Amino acid sequence: MIASVRRIAAVCALGAALAACQSADPHAKAAHPAPARPGASASPSPTGPPVLAPGPGGLTPVFEHGPRTAKTVALTFDADMTADEGPRAASGERFDNPGLISALRSLKVPATVFMTGRWADEYPAEARALGTDPGFEVANHSYSHYAATADCYGLPTVGADGIRADVERAYTSLRKAGVRNPMPYFRFPGGCYDDKALRALNGTGVTAVQWDVVSGDAFATDADAVVRQVLDGVKPGSVVVMHCTRSAAPTTEQVVRTVVPELRRQGYRFVKVSELIGQSRAGR
Ligand SMILES: [Zn+2]
Repeated sequence: MIASVRRIAAVCALGAALAACQSADPHAKAAHPAPARPGASASPSPTGPPVLAPGPGGLTPVFEHGPRTAKTVALTFDADMTADEGPRAASGERFDNPGLISALRSLKVPATVFMTGRWADEYPAEARALGTDPGFEVANHSYSHYAATADCYGLPTVGADGIRADVERAYTSLRKAGVRNPMPYFRFPGGCYDDKALRALNGTGVTAVQWDVVSGDAFATDADAVVRQVLDGVKPGSVVVMHCTRSAAPTTEQVVRTVVPELRRQGYRFVKVSELIGQSRAGR
C-alpha cells in the first residue's frame, strides 16, 4: 500500500519452509471454514465464512476494521507477486518469507494472507501449506496484482472492466495450488478501488477488505520504525496490513516478533479477518 505499492507489486510470498511446520501448528484443531465457493452465489452460505451484506444495488461491501469494543486485532499479510515478475523470480529474487510464517506459527498468531494467483503459481507448495493450515486463512489479492483504478502507485492497470476476471483467475490458481477453501475476501491491489470496481464484483459474494493500520513495512529498513507505527496505530478491532516478501519487506519477521508480545501485554488477542467480520455482523 501507500508509497510501497508501486514496487510492492512484486512483494509477498510465503516460504518454502511452510510445509515443514504444518503439523506443529497450534491451531490444528480449529475447524476450517466450510467452502466459500466465491462466485458461486451472491448469498453467503449459512455455514460458510462470514461476509458483509452487499450495499445498495448489490454493491460489493468493503470492510476496514472490526468493532471498536473488543481488544482483537487482525494481522494481514499481502503475498504480492505481479504477473510480469516471473523473470525476477527465475533469477533468484524471493517473493516469499518462510521465516515470517515460521514466526507466526511459533508465536501462535492466526493470520490472514491475501495471496495473488501469480504468487500461488510460483510457490504452490507454500500456498498449499498455508491453505491447509487452520492457523491461516488464504484470501484473494487478484491474479496479476494489477490495479482496478488508474494512478495506483504506479501499478499496471486492469481497470474495473478487468478486475472480475482477474479475481476469478486468482481463485483458480489458489485452488490449483491446493488452497482448499480460499476465503470470499478480496483485497484490491494497492488498496485502490472506486464504485465502478466495486460494482464489477457485484454478485461474486466477496467482501473487499481494506485496513485501518498501515504498518509501513514495505521497503522499510528500520524495523523499530515499523514497530512504532503499528503500535501507535492499533486500536480494538484493527486490521493491520503487512507484507511477506523478503526482498521487498525485509523487516517484517522482526517486526512481528516484537509487536506480538507487546500487543498481548496490552491485552490484545490476535484473530483472523473472518472473526472480525463475524463480530461486525453480530453487532458486537
Ligand atoms: Zn499487494
